[in-house]
Amino acid sequence: MIKTDILIIGAGPTGLFTVFEAGLLKLKCHLIDALAQPGGQCSEIYPKKPIYDIPGFPEILAGDLTKNLLEQGKQFEPGFTLGERAETIEKLEDGSFIVTTNKGTKHHAPVVAIAGGLGSFEPRKPKIENLEFYEDKGVEYMIKDPEVYRNKKVVISGGGDSALDWSIFLADIASEVTLVHRRNEFRGALDSVEKVKELKLLGKINLITPAEVTAIHGNQNVEGVTIEKEGENILLEADHFIPLFGLSPKLGPISDWGLEIEKNAIKVDTLDYQTNIPGVFAIGDVNTYEGKLKLILCGFHEATLMCQSAYKIINPGKKYVLKYTTVSGVDGFDGTRKEAPKAVVQAID
Ligand SMILES: Cc1cc2nc3c(=O)[nH]c(=O)nc-3n(C[C@H](O)[C@H](O)[C@H](O)COP(=O)(O)OP(=O)(O)OC[C@H]3O[C@@H](n4cnc5c(N)ncnc54)[C@H](O)[C@@H]3O)c2cc1C
Repeated sequence: MIKTDILIIGAGPTGLFTVFEAGLLKLKCHLIDALAQPGGQCSEIYPKKPIYDIPGFPEILAGDLTKNLLEQGKQFEPGFTLGERAETIEKLEDGSFIVTTNKGTKHHAPVVAIAGGLGSFEPRKPKIENLEFYEDKGVEYMIKDPEVYRNKKVVISGGGDSALDWSIFLADIASEVTLVHRRNEFRGALDSVEKVKELKLLGKINLITPAEVTAIHGNQNVEGVTIEKEGENILLEADHFIPLFGLSPKLGPISDWGLEIEKNAIKVDTLDYQTNIPGVFAIGDVNTYEGKLKLILCGFHEATLMCQSAYKIINPGKKYVLKYTTVSGVDGFDGTRKEAPKAVVQAID
């Protein structure tokens, strides 16, 4: 059982900034995300796009914003359960919660903050009979640890950046990489397409187009796949089949938690973004209220106010006096200390 003060569902920009705001109040956070990496929409949909409306940053790449948020929160030592979807919530008699993921990982916390954005990103799956049977037995929809594929025979299908980038990356790790795409043209970045073609010439990637994986074989685990190319069937030995057809967000299991939902978003009280379940908050893109704007800076503001109420739930009767970080400095849980400049302290004193 993973124990924490605030359990955050969703490691997008809102969830990541919550770690920092909670840390200032000496509250520890743990984040669950269905994706293999933090950053939510910023890292999954548009990491290379510049954002122009983050206060203080005239321009910042979405990927760099994620990196900065992780860096800012690092001192408060957040925990992460990545590649798992929060599936069920149970309220205990003392008012605390147990949240269990689709992989069975249990988390216990007095406060739950749902920062689930548009919902959990679920893989688009190809229509192949028995596909589900082979999930986690050689079929994976995202790559969490490339080392799993060392010296293995890997078949990747898809025509976007993920399929191209992972084929290139695994070419040096796997014993055999086959990339299958139903068209001769790819949707990904031009330099990635060129690199794949170069690796094909070097015999490091087996490129099969226009083609589709139509069947999976193996007794318990994946042992091979059938690839259909222009009416011909090719039987290929494989230890892993990785379909990378993109991800689509779904509110999913959270919609069955007894929360008040309006237009696929969670209704909250704008006082502190608490939901109809006391102790469960909803912040960022996942919530709705009159005048709601789905913007990163709004998520940051909501996270900040939410932490104040979380503090009162976790420390009943204790008073918290807001201090500027320029005055109090920042005490990391890892022993680091960012000092407040003396002149400012004196001026305020
Ligand atoms: C192309 C594009 C450009 C944009 N440009 C801008 C811009 O210029 N400025 C701006 O302010 N905003 C912009 N946005 C919007 C901005 O990205 C969102 O407002 C922001 O990402 C919301 O952050 P969030 O943390 O609330 O949610 P998200 O970023 O959506 O993150 C939510 C996370 O929760 C996870 N999750 C959900 N449910 C579960 C579950 N049950 N279990 C586990 N994990 C779960 C998801 O996997 C996801 O990673 C843009 C969006 C897009 C798509």
